[in-house]
Amino acid sequence: MIITMQRGAARSQIDHVIDRIRELGYEPHPIFGVERTVIAAVGDERGKHQLEALESAPGVERVTPILQPFKLVGNEVKPEKTVVQVGGVKFGGDQFGVMAGPCSVETREQILETARAVKRAGAQVLRGGAFKPRTSPYSFQGLAEEGLKLLAEARAETGLPVVTEVMNPRDIELVVNYADCLQIGARNMQNFPLLKEVGQTRKPILLKRGMMATMEELLMSAEYIASEGNKEIILCERGIRTFEKYTRNTFDVSAIPVLQSYTHLPVIADPSHGVGIRRFVPAMAKAAVASGADGLMIEVHPNPENAYSDGAQSLLPDQFEKMMRELEGYVKLEGKHL
Ligand code: PEP
Ligand code: MN
Repeated sequence: MIITMQRGAARSQIDHVIDRIRELGYEPHPIFGVERTVIAAVGDERGKHQLEALESAPGVERVTPILQPFKLVGNEVKPEKTVVQVGGVKFGGDQFGVMAGPCSVETREQILETARAVKRAGAQVLRGGAFKPRTSPYSFQGLAEEGLKLLAEARAETGLPVVTEVMNPRDIELVVNYADCLQIGARNMQNFPLLKEVGQTRKPILLKRGMMATMEELLMSAEYIASEGNKEIILCERGIRTFEKYTRNTFDVSAIPVLQSYTHLPVIADPSHGVGIRRFVPAMAKAAVASGADGLMIEVHPNPENAYSDGAQSLLPDQFEKMMRELEGYVKLEGKHL
């Protein structure tokens, strides 16, 4: 239920409503707007008639049901866009944010060289996996803490904040010590215990769409994180699995504007995993900008031929730089800046 307070309602009236919501067994989520305060009461909808009675509480204008199955991440409760900051870089505002770097952190030289190159080209956040979700247990699994330390070193040198994946709840504490943003990968989008745990951290979360997940499922996964108290969530379209074989995944560009019509959270796109083939990445990046994405995640590797993972879809530094230059005009057309 959404309890809309009257314009200029007293703080004591707002507090009374919040207390009543709690007494009725719901979780109150107040949003203090400039104009008025709106309080979302989230919980088991079966007792909603009791909440409806709050319409007669002092200072309340109206009580309306939330129709979307996701409450906190939906734009029914909060129509204005959320801006999520990753180490000072804003996603969801006028700035178009670009996260770039290798799929995996491999060596000190590799991550430092890539970090310098993506920074020079205009990326604002460095990506790199230290814990890698690989299809085969025999493939490179990531450098774990050593990789996190290298990311921290690259951040210290370049000033770029760092996003990296966490796959296991028992690694969260470790990753939080090093990362500016925690990535939940496609394979873990519905790992509900993991979502709940990262929801208890105070780090922004990059939540990637599962390869077989609907947009509603993605939003419900974001809801898991938000319902634990962490509302700093960036959604990421990274391609879904279809019958098509000429691309690694099918990059669902339509998810960008459609998600944005349901949620206030920023939505970025990862055309690298979306298409999976280096030479098509720039075109898909442009498509993402044109469809209103709030940012991009791009894989870049100085020597893709010898990459430990995802070399085929990684841009060389000069290709990335060229793409960034080409994107400038597209970003401007969208009323944003790099
Ligand atoms: C990645 O970002 O390298 C990755 C593993 O992505 P996804 O979870 O989207 O496959
Ligand atoms: Mn990858």
